[in-house]
Amino acid sequence: MKTNSILIKNGLMVTAADECLADIYIEGEKIQCIGKGLTHQADQVLDATGCYVIPGGIDAHTHMELPFMGTASSDTFETGTLAGLHGGTTTIIDFAIQTPGESLEGALNQWHEKASGKAVGDYAFHIAVTDFNDSTRGEIQVLIERHGVTSFKTFMAYKGALMVDDRQILNLMAEVKKFGGFVTTHAENGDLVASSVAQYLTEGKVTPEFHAKSRPPICESEATGRVLDLAYSGDHPLYIVHMTCEDALNRVRMATLRNQKVFVETCVQYLLLDDSRYLEENFGGAKYVMSPPLRTPRDQEALWNGIEQGLIQVVATDHCPFCLEQKRMGIQNFSKIPNGAPGIENRVELLYSEGVLKGRISRQKWVDLIATQPARIFGLFPKKGTLSIGGDADLVIFDPKVKHMISAKTHHMNCDYNPYEGWQLQGQCRTTLLRGQIAVDRGQAKIGKGYGRYLPRIANQSGGIHV
Ligand SMILES: [Zn+2]
Repeated sequence: MKTNSILIKNGLMVTAADECLADIYIEGEKIQCIGKGLTHQADQVLDATGCYVIPGGIDAHTHMELPFMGTASSDTFETGTLAGLHGGTTTIIDFAIQTPGESLEGALNQWHEKASGKAVGDYAFHIAVTDFNDSTRGEIQVLIERHGVTSFKTFMAYKGALMVDDRQILNLMAEVKKFGGFVTTHAENGDLVASSVAQYLTEGKVTPEFHAKSRPPICESEATGRVLDLAYSGDHPLYIVHMTCEDALNRVRMATLRNQKVFVETCVQYLLLDDSRYLEENFGGAKYVMSPPLRTPRDQEALWNGIEQGLIQVVATDHCPFCLEQKRMGIQNFSKIPNGAPGIENRVELLYSEGVLKGRISRQKWVDLIATQPARIFGLFPKKGTLSIGGDADLVIFDPKVKHMISAKTHHMNCDYNPYEGWQLQGQCRTTLLRGQIAVDRGQAKIGKGYGRYLPRIANQSGGIHV
């Protein structure tokens, strides 16, 4: 079963930097040689004629088995990472979330338990800090240096559950920077959200559309501006997760005018879906309840432009699926609908079909957004995120001609709906390799539970993020 060597012939090798027709020879887990007309004797030869060969995708924002809002997200590390492999994503960075009052290391251990021996794809962890105090401060160095966790998330929303205040954010930024880590932020003003949620509920406005109405762009742009100012005040690097709208992006634009170091992630749903979805009948709007919510077509346009302008570096998914039955927890009250949606399996193909084929981004930018930038920013490069001699043989043979349709009936995510149901795509991940093993080939899984490996990451001693 175990293959020692693979030769991929005649593919168009596409990286964030360039592209060329080349063969790739893989031995064990690593790429050994890249060149034209390679003649290595390999155990297996894969013909990639007419296909692209791209680095395995890295989804920098996922939530497998996340206990949240009285339930848990429906993909495990096994089902979620396998679905990722079907869709060309070989590595995820998931969030270990601190329980307030408990240690950060405790959270990390809990998440290791969920993933270890179960994940099919490779994985790393961010830690979400929900309670920063003297004791958690003392853990930061060990987490960065011993456990390879170099990014720390803060929530400015979810008041009373995950939210931290500005002082905690500032103190955390200062502490992690000492050891080459950095802070990532969910930027929404939690107080503003809580007050408008209460107002709508008082008025009897309980349907899913009021989820979006209760968290308008001002909630996000205010928090984005504030966290940018906090970071600027101490000269700390910053990464903002799942940006959705023009107003927030303009705060980033302003920050760059003062030469601030800031990195921005958006998610595929914010580029492709809009807030009209909340009006889907029969409680269908609940499928799109996530925070921040879907925005307007104008915001989508701003995000695509932000990518072109280099203001946005990463496209992730915030993959956090809940089945329809779980969504029904909020049938009488939108604020009880578990927040999140599936996406990990569709990201790479959607961005090709809707991004590259529609002329919004180049093939190089596509690879950059889905693999190379997340690897660089989060300390996985060049082992992951590109195709290079000596790097992990994580790659996708992508057939740009195949047409297919997205459906919950055929996807591999453990969720009974798909936000892109019925979408016609062109371009499909034919074969996905992870560390030199064929992981998925033409829809068939070739590796299983426990193949995935934990990836400790490397901090940047010279101060936070380097790309
Ligand atoms: Zn998230």
